[in-house]
Amino acid sequence: MTYYLSLGSNLGEREQTINRALACLEELAGVITSRSEFFYSAPWGYNSPNPFCNLCCCVETNLQPLQMLQATQAVERRLGRSHKTADGHYEDRTIDIDLIRAFDGNGQEIRWETETLTLPHPLWQQREFVRVPLQEIITKQHKTIEHMRTRMVAGNWKMNKNLQEGVALATELKEAVKDPKCAVVIGTPFIHLATVAELLKGSPIKVAAENCADHEKGAYTGEVSAEMVKSTGAEYVILGHSERRQYYAESYEMLAEKVRLALANGLKVIFCIGEVKEEREAGKQNEVVKAQLEGSVFGLSAEEWKNIVLAYEPVWAIGTGLTATPEQAQEIHAYIRSLVADKFGKEAAEDTTILYGGSCNEKNAAELFACPDIDGGLIGGAALVADKFLAIIAAR
Ligand code: PEP
Repeated sequence: MTYYLSLGSNLGEREQTINRALACLEELAGVITSRSEFFYSAPWGYNSPNPFCNLCCCVETNLQPLQMLQATQAVERRLGRSHKTADGHYEDRTIDIDLIRAFDGNGQEIRWETETLTLPHPLWQQREFVRVPLQEIITKQHKTIEHMRTRMVAGNWKMNKNLQEGVALATELKEAVKDPKCAVVIGTPFIHLATVAELLKGSPIKVAAENCADHEKGAYTGEVSAEMVKSTGAEYVILGHSERRQYYAESYEMLAEKVRLALANGLKVIFCIGEVKEEREAGKQNEVVKAQLEGSVFGLSAEEWKNIVLAYEPVWAIGTGLTATPEQAQEIHAYIRSLVADKFGKEAAEDTTILYGGSCNEKNAAELFACPDIDGGLIGGAALVADKFLAIIAAR
């Protein structure tokens, strides 16, 4: 996938342009991957206000042009820049993006070709356009790629599928998922783990357990320890799922211990939080998720936090067909991110993957995933059918 990103020459020197480009890329990380190539325009020795600044075009993205423009404008707002230059050229109405069409401040069309740009305006002609693989810039200039948070679609099979059915589903997914735009994880019952992990060797799909014990080892009949999970080849474990909290009385303290053991044994944790219907109706959702985080995972070190993925799952939406609206989900995801920022700092918060779960399916996924603080989904029912799960992965 190739993205074309044009940045204003009034940004300053080459270095500043690159840094600013990277800041934009961080904001747009949901659609830009390390495999993308990235075009940037470097300033070429003059400092006049540039009417073409801050225009971001994209090709072959799953974002609609308008969404892309909105995303760019969100970046601008975040960076505290106005949409208008001193000479008034840059106003929203002077910008039009229609896949590979862009207009300059005088309404003249800027024509993009695959690798070259036709520059109708003399100012543009003073600019240097360089085609650089994104990975190259990042390795040289910045560690930003490491700071781009992982986008993810994770399935949670729950107590469905016997071993043969699980293997059949994993095989189908393996065949279809070759180069996904996001991380893909499937959470399976314990009995599938070793077989499915073996089957998925060499595939980008990773395997998660749906639980692990709150004890290290010993006489706990029927339990499976984090170390045992790890020995199957699984890389993740889903903890704190509302069904575990509700039906198996998993307390904050017990979950804190499970998380500690999972991390100590080299697993990554998908940690679920979310309010029940009555709490949502009483407007207590923020309070609830805060208590869940504080009770089980906010005691972790900054280093340990790097292996935590959060999943916000309103309990009233799980398996019910009711979904949080994108606005409801975005609002609480942003709140959760702010809690992480208060606890672990802004950078860690920006790096934290926060999934949405609760009747997310192939029809509503794209809309949910377009929200800036929703980094993907934890999928129950729709993860049991290969086509549906694949469509959700494609929506991310
Ligand atoms: C889940 O159990 O994590 C879940 C989100 O389920 P569903 O997608 O079926 O609502």
